[in-house]
Amino acid sequence: MPVKGLGEYDPTNIFARILRSEIPSRRVFENEHAIAFHDINPQAAIHVLVIPKGAYISLADFTTQASDAEITGFFKAVGAVAKQLDLETPGYRILANMGEHAGQEVPHFHVHLFGGHPLGPMLAR
Ligand code: AMP
Repeated sequence: MPVKGLGEYDPTNIFARILRSEIPSRRVFENEHAIAFHDINPQAAIHVLVIPKGAYISLADFTTQASDAEITGFFKAVGAVAKQLDLETPGYRILANMGEHAGQEVPHFHVHLFGGHPLGPMLAR
């Protein structure tokens, strides 16, 4: 079910549990402020999620509440993952869903990274 409102951070959400290693994930990258792992239901040949280690629901939450070091560390992680997966030359797409209209399912801020083949139009019409 998509996230309806942006209330309190839910520490039982699936990504919080992945961060605590309570459930497994296929991690591809970690730095001080972020981890990246393969999406369990890939929508492209390569589909990786990058998430901050801190408890943030949305981009607004992250960019207003996180420290500059956390924000920098997170976006450096996104770039590092693309480089590590050899996606810089062929290209790739990043996307982040926020709230109900975007269909955000997991209420922990995350960026999707897609690649591995031509990705087609940005949005289905
Ligand atoms: P969003 O709709 O932007 O909130 O995306 C949530 C993403 O999390 C979806 O692409 C799911 O396939 C993915 N997902 C859900 N549970 C897991 C999990 N346990 N491990 C990896 N990815 C997951």
